Amino acid sequence: MKAAVLHQYDTTLSSPDFVALEEVPEPEIQSQTDVVIRIGGAGVCRTDLHVVDGELPDPKLPLVPGHEIIGSVVGKGESVDRFAIGDRVGVPWLGWTCGICEYCRKGHENLCDRARFTGYQTDGGYAELTVADERYCFAIDPHYGDVEAAPLMCAGLIGYRTLRMAGDARLVGIYGFGAAAHIVAQVVRHQGRRLFAFTRPGDVAAQDFARSLGAEWAGDSTAPPPEPLDAALIFAPIGALVPAALAATRKGGTVVCGGIHMSDIPSFPYRILWEERAVRSVANLTRRDAEEFLALAPDAGVRTQTVTYPLAEANRALADLRRGALQGAAVLVP
Ligand SMILES: [Zn+2]
Ligand SMILES: [Zn+2]
Repeated sequence: MKAAVLHQYDTTLSSPDFVALEEVPEPEIQSQTDVVIRIGGAGVCRTDLHVVDGELPDPKLPLVPGHEIIGSVVGKGESVDRFAIGDRVGVPWLGWTCGICEYCRKGHENLCDRARFTGYQTDGGYAELTVADERYCFAIDPHYGDVEAAPLMCAGLIGYRTLRMAGDARLVGIYGFGAAAHIVAQVVRHQGRRLFAFTRPGDVAAQDFARSLGAEWAGDSTAPPPEPLDAALIFAPIGALVPAALAATRKGGTVVCGGIHMSDIPSFPYRILWEERAVRSVANLTRRDAEEFLALAPDAGVRTQTVTYPLAEANRALADLRRGALQGAAVLVP
C-alpha cells in the first residue's frame, strides 16, 4: 500500500519534505482486538507538525503520522465484537491504554502511564490502510462523510475536552481560529454561550470566518476584548498568548491551553493571575470525551470545513497548516 512516511524528524525545518510517499507492506493484525481499516480520509493536525519538527519526544521511526482517521473495516481479529466488516469507524489520538495504572483506574485514561498514541507511537492515517484496536475506535454518524468526519477525531474531541475545562463560562474567548476552534465555536453557540475570537493580528479572513461561525466579536490577539472573558481557550501553540488571555479574563476565570506543545510562556506580573484566575492544560482525550462529543456533534449541527489533499501531497498540507493558510481543517485522501 501507499503511505507517507516520516523517517527522521527535522528540528531545523531545512527541508519542505517532511514525509516521503512510499510503497510499504500492508499493516497486519497484532492483537485479537485489532481491526484493519481502509482509510477514506485522514486529518492533518498541528500535532503532526510537532512530531515532524521533533518537538515531541521519541516518536516511533519510521512513522506513518496521522491521528484523525475515518475508514471502513476490512479485516478483524478473532475477539472483535463491536464492529463488522464494512462498518465505518473513526480512530483518534488515544490508541491504547493499560487499564491498570492509577490514572486508568480513576477514569483519567488520557493520562495513562503507558498510553500509546496513534500516528506517534503507532502508525497512523497518512496511508491507504491502518490497524487500530477496536476498543479505541468509534462509530461515525452517517450524517458525515469520511472527509468531513476526519477533523472531528482530534480537533473536535480534544477541542471539546478543552471546552469542558472551561466549566459553565458564559462568555468564551478562543485564541487561534483553526481546525479545533471552528468546531468548538459551533458547540459554544449551540450551548447558548457567547463567543469572542482572537486571531493573529491583521488576519481579517480568520476574523470573518469566526464571525460566520457565530463569534459576536473577532479581533487581534494583541488587543483587549470589548468586555472581559469568563474563560479563554488557547488553540494556537504560542506561549505569549497565555498572559494575553489572562489579562483578558475576569476574576475567577480559567485559561485553558488546548495544545500538546507551546512555545515558552513569557513571565508575567502576578496581578493578572491574582483573583483566582487559573491556567491549565488539556492532555489527550478519554473514550468518554469521544462518546459524548460524537453524540453531540450531529445534534448540535456541527459541520466541518475541510481542504482536501491527495495523500501524495501530504507535505503541501503540512506546509499550508504551518503557514496558517487554511480555513478549517486539512484532510488527506488516499
Ligand atoms: Zn494506564
Ligand atoms: Zn491532533
